[in-house]
Parts: sequence; structure tokens; C-alpha cells
Amino acid sequence: MPTLNLFSHPMYVMLKPIGAHCNLACTYCYYLEKAHLYDQVPRHVMSDRLLERFTQQYIEAQTMNEVLFTWHGGETLMRPLSFYKRALELQRKYARGRVISNAIQTNGTLLTDEWCEFFRENNWLVGVSIDGPQEFHDEYRRSRSGKPSWTQVMAGIKLLQKHGVEWNAMAVVNDFNADYPLEFYRFFKQIGCKYIQFTPIVERIVSHADGRHLASLTDAADAPMADFSVTPDQWGSFCCAIFDEWVRNDVGEVFVQLFDATLANWCGQTPGICTMGKTCGHAAAMEFNGDVYSCDHFVFPEYRLGNINSQTLLEMMYGDKQRAFATLKQKHLPRQCRECKYRFACNGECPKNRFVTDAYGNPGLNYLCRGYLRFFEHVAPYMDRMKQLLEQQRAPAEIMNEIKL
Ligand code: SF4
Ligand code: SF4
Repeated sequence: MPTLNLFSHPMYVMLKPIGAHCNLACTYCYYLEKAHLYDQVPRHVMSDRLLERFTQQYIEAQTMNEVLFTWHGGETLMRPLSFYKRALELQRKYARGRVISNAIQTNGTLLTDEWCEFFRENNWLVGVSIDGPQEFHDEYRRSRSGKPSWTQVMAGIKLLQKHGVEWNAMAVVNDFNADYPLEFYRFFKQIGCKYIQFTPIVERIVSHADGRHLASLTDAADAPMADFSVTPDQWGSFCCAIFDEWVRNDVGEVFVQLFDATLANWCGQTPGICTMGKTCGHAAAMEFNGDVYSCDHFVFPEYRLGNINSQTLLEMMYGDKQRAFATLKQKHLPRQCRECKYRFACNGECPKNRFVTDAYGNPGLNYLCRGYLRFFEHVAPYMDRMKQLLEQQRAPAEIMNEIKL
């Protein structure tokens, strides 16, 4: 069996410069409760010293010439602009000829002209969390006091557009908006969004002595689903409905991450999202205090790799613990996945969602499996054709004319 070579991929470590703190308190947020991991620490902010240590090590650890810094929250814009200006200074100081770029995730509510000018001038890519039209978005994305946020987010997006900042939408698909795929998709087109990433929300709830939490993979398999989670059938219908609209009208114009990743897998290439890839382990997350975790979705004590103050990024990212995490995806695939004709496109999706039993009674099947099966079955003829077009050095967008014939 070939051994896994982590060095053949770029190494990403997502930064949490303000930990899990946020000016919103979205019902389904998987990250807000991570603040409790650091209850004993008064201020959850990344220090200048830590930022410098990270920047130097991160750049030096890369095996490729391009280096991507990813800023994530909590709400990243709760750190002052001066923090990110300093980050750029440090990147320049340690670049040594590397090509450095930055991507930042925000809920969009704190964007101002000043922020947008900074992003434009420095070519930052901004990912904005927005769940579609107002009534979908405001269902779950609210402040602690229950105030809706859509109007502020849209004002932020208009500012990004006014300043010509490159941005994309990061949307969550939940029990509510999943029933309105076309309204959801058309909304993004109407507001001029060309890059859409939608993520199914799948969470379970567990009760511990200190209250209710989102479950980790190691929690009991029968932990109840959080009611905002999308169901497998909803997910399947949602993806198929959007795909039908996209494949007839928008190929090559609107980029939907799931469709791009599916086509990449169909063509034997590496998909742009880890969930559809063969292995995990290339993208860790570093908290404000230097703690590094295997993945942003595995910020649990048992997946902590170490701390950058006492270990190097190289030691943590290429060490035994992260190697074991990387193989988790393939190693624990249940029999149903191993026999599945769409395994090449799905790879069992994210291990975080593998907590149901498969057709043979084995544990570890993905909760969304039924939805994915339906989606792959539905898109297979189109994917086959787009693959053929690519092999003939033609644009996949030609499929739109063929469908109309
Ligand atoms: S655990 Fe899930 S989110 Fe994390 S790297 Fe693996 S597939 Fe991606
Ligand atoms: S579609 Fe279902 S059975 Fe097939 S690989 Fe994905 S999760 Fe496994």
C-alpha cells in the first residue's frame, strides 16, 4: 500500500486571531463554544510575538513557492486593522521570495470603507458568510440579543463591490433553507456572486456536566441530531435542484465549489475541498494562544497537536498524530463506501459526519450518504460529458448548448 506523503501537498494552518469570539451568535455555529476551551484565559487575542513566530515558521515550512495565509474566526474583523497591517509587515519580513496571499473569512457586518480599501490594496480574498435571501439568513444568523444580521451583511457586500474587492459567499445549508434551493441559488446570482461555497450543517448534541455541546466524533453514535441540521434527503434534493439550473445556464460563469470538486474527482484530479478529497490533514487550525489542532472541524482536546510555543509547525503538521489523522478518512471507510461506485467522487465525505451505520450494520457511514448517492447518480451523465469535453480540450461550458439542443 502506498504511504501517505503529506509533503506533496501545500500545508495550510488557518489562524484564529480572536479565538472563537464573535459579534454574532448564530444558532448553528460550531466554533462559538470553543471559547470554553480557554475559559481560564482572560483575553482571547493573538499576541504580536505569537504572530511573528507563526509567520516565520509557516513560510519556512512550505514546500511550494506560493503561501496562503487564511484568517478565520470567531469574527476576524473584531481585531483592529492595525493587527492585519502588522501581519503584512511580518509576511514581507519573512517572505524571502515566496509569493504570499491572504484570504479572510468574515460575517460581513463590521466591514467599512477602510477595511475594504485595505483588502483591495493588498489583494485579499474575502469570504462572506451569508445564507441566502433575508428570511433564510435571519433564521439562524443573529446577534446574542436576537437581532437579525442580513441587512448589515448586505451593506458589507455592497462595500466590497464598491471597492472592487474579490469576494465569495460561504453559505450554510440547514433544515430551513434546504427546502428552497432555487431561491437560494438565484439570490447569489442576483447579487453578482460568482463563487459560491455551500456547506451542509450536520451537528449532534451531547450533554456534559457543564451543559449541552456539539458532539465530537468520539461521542456516542446515538447522540441526537441538532434540529437545525439538514437531512440527507434535503441535501440530495438541494444539490440536484441547483445542479440542474447551473448545468443549463451557468457553467463557466458561476463557480459552485461542490460541482467543481465533483468534476475534479471525475477527472482524477485533486478536488478543491477537503471533504471530497482522499485524505485529511493538510489544513490545521491555530488558536489565538498557539494551540494547533488537526482541523478546524476537530478543535477538541483529543485532536490538539501541540502548541507553537513549545513545538514547531513542522513537528506538529508532519508528526505521527497528524499523519494518523490524515489516514482516518480512508482507513475507517465502512464496507458500503468501499463497495460504492461513487467512492472516487465522495471518499466518504468528512469524517466528522460519519456516525451512522452502513447497509451491513458497520459503524462509520456518513450521515449524508443517501443525499450524496442521489446527487452523484443524478449528475453522473453530465459529469461524464464534461470530462469528455475536457479530454478533447474543449470547455465544459459547451454542455449547456448540447442540453438545449
Ligand atoms: S476532517 Fe473534514 S473538514 Fe477536516 S480535513 Fe478532513 S474532510 Fe476536511
Ligand atoms: S455516497 Fe455514501 S456509500 Fe458512497 S462513498 Fe459516499 S458516503 Fe460512502
